[in-house]
Amino acid sequence: MRRYLIVGNWKMYKTIEEAVGFVNELKVEIHNIRDVDIAVCPPFTALSSVRDALSDSNIYLGAQNMYFEDEGACTGDISPLMLKDTGCRYVILGHSERRKIFAETDELINKKVKAALKYGLIPILCVGETIEEREANRTFDVINSQLNKDLDSIEKDNFQKIVIAYEPVWAIGTGKTATEEQAQEAHSYIRNYLKENSSDEVAEKIKILYGGSVKPDNIESLIKQPDLDGALVGGASLDVRNFSQIIKKSREVPR
Ligand code: PEP
Repeated sequence: MRRYLIVGNWKMYKTIEEAVGFVNELKVEIHNIRDVDIAVCPPFTALSSVRDALSDSNIYLGAQNMYFEDEGACTGDISPLMLKDTGCRYVILGHSERRKIFAETDELINKKVKAALKYGLIPILCVGETIEEREANRTFDVINSQLNKDLDSIEKDNFQKIVIAYEPVWAIGTGKTATEEQAQEAHSYIRNYLKENSSDEVAEKIKILYGGSVKPDNIESLIKQPDLDGALVGGASLDVRNFSQIIKKSREVPR
């Protein structure tokens, strides 16, 4: 049975003090929750301080990006080795903001996914279509192409070490959420893709998160969909009350 996973993507928000203050409050809010996996992904500058603040908790640490080399002359970037060293369990890769603002290609994302796996980091690989692609009925083609390229030449058994996040680009930070039917349809498509490209057993183990304007008032209807295993939460994860409500409400929906 796949446990729910709720991940907060803080994007380029929060100073060290704000980040530590947040997790100290979050720990109190969710101290008795053991049946949901929870992670926060602060900016790089706050990773170590948040790691220390989380040491007596069941909340995992994640990063929002990385480069694929171990080390080298890559000014301004950070390696999987460094993230592992900082105590990260997860790393978000292929977020649509990285694809759009930083022109990240699927080929680059594929190298990053492989590098994350090499260092024992769990990649949270984001895929999803733009509004133009959805309106042109290309949603599944886009997801298929992203998965083909981003997972290219990765050993099939390694698929189960990856988390996939379906994040329709038109729903990120817009307040527009995919309907539960749209989300389930895409998640089911992704699960079938994973079955065809690994095995039924492996595909059943992989967590597929939904991301795109998740809030306390829509998490229940989304997470009750059979192929939805949690959420990647942006804006609403910046507020302790909203984020902890999302966690609490999701665990009320039986698997
Ligand atoms: C995200 O950044 O991954 C995200 C889903 O953002 P938001 O929840 O704000 O739409």
